Amino acid sequence: MENELTFCQMSLDRSSTLRKNSAWLQDKIVNEDSRHYFFWRGKFLFLDQEVFIFVRKMANDATNNISNMDTITDVLTDSDLIFLGTSDTKAHFACDLSNMNEEVIAKWLDNLAIDNIKFIDFRRSLSLLTHQQGAILSYAKALIHWQQSALYCGCCGSDNKSVDGGHRRVCLNSDCQREHFPRTDPAVIMLVEYQPETGPALCLLAEHHRTPEHMFSTLAGFVDPGESLEEAVTREVFEEAGIKVSNVRYIDSQPWPFPNSLMIGFIAQAQNLDLCLEEEELRSAEWFTAEQLTDFNDWGDDGEGPKLPRKESIARLLIDLWCEKQLALTV
Ligand SMILES: [Zn+2]
Repeated sequence: MENELTFCQMSLDRSSTLRKNSAWLQDKIVNEDSRHYFFWRGKFLFLDQEVFIFVRKMANDATNNISNMDTITDVLTDSDLIFLGTSDTKAHFACDLSNMNEEVIAKWLDNLAIDNIKFIDFRRSLSLLTHQQGAILSYAKALIHWQQSALYCGCCGSDNKSVDGGHRRVCLNSDCQREHFPRTDPAVIMLVEYQPETGPALCLLAEHHRTPEHMFSTLAGFVDPGESLEEAVTREVFEEAGIKVSNVRYIDSQPWPFPNSLMIGFIAQAQNLDLCLEEEELRSAEWFTAEQLTDFNDWGDDGEGPKLPRKESIARLLIDLWCEKQLALTV
């Protein structure tokens, strides 16, 4: 199945061999065709309603409205740029400015002297991005998060140095020299269904404390060390809802850069109906038929009625796929 979920279908070639060539990388960093995205504390830089992509050859273009080019090129020179990949021969880089405090970043923006340029929170900016931009920026955000959390060696506590365009960090302690690589946290997300002897199938959706009231979604949880994905699904469903499941089937996956997860989606068959909720995690949980779910509102809709998760999420994909199948069966 072709994955059309947000953050999937990365359009860039990650060029994972080329990025190890420091001469090639350096050439791309200063190349006038390279693309640069700017990040500051969970936000990317936007111009009007579009993500701001800096290309050095803008400097030679009299029609552009960037009057203070040095303000940009200086930070590109001073930063450990993160290489994201190539499209055709053009390299794409992310520049993390999070070390600047609020005062300094405000001054930097002022110095750019560009109308309507501002940082926008990544999650809030999703509606402004194309599908391809969403995938590129989610990749950038996850790498930046890892860079920020791997400043020091986890073995000896010495400084780490960023290499390979930000895809590896190496401990600077000559007695250690441990290599560190970007981390992704696997999380399972599962729609639990129950097929009664008679009547329509049911699916279990829950209100989580971490999401707004009346928003019903699937169960989810992180994979424990030493656990298979199927075991994680079985354990999480029992811990959160007291339901035993079998027939755990993989459906799809989605990178989830908040901050660095991979959501792995399943549908599982419930063996029992009686719920025993983990109250620390869930506000409520209920069984619903597909027909009932068709009356739910969308995320972001006004009103007090029950809502489904955001359209871009794998939770919503699992619910939509299940409903589609159930409704087709009843026709
Ligand atoms: Zn070390």
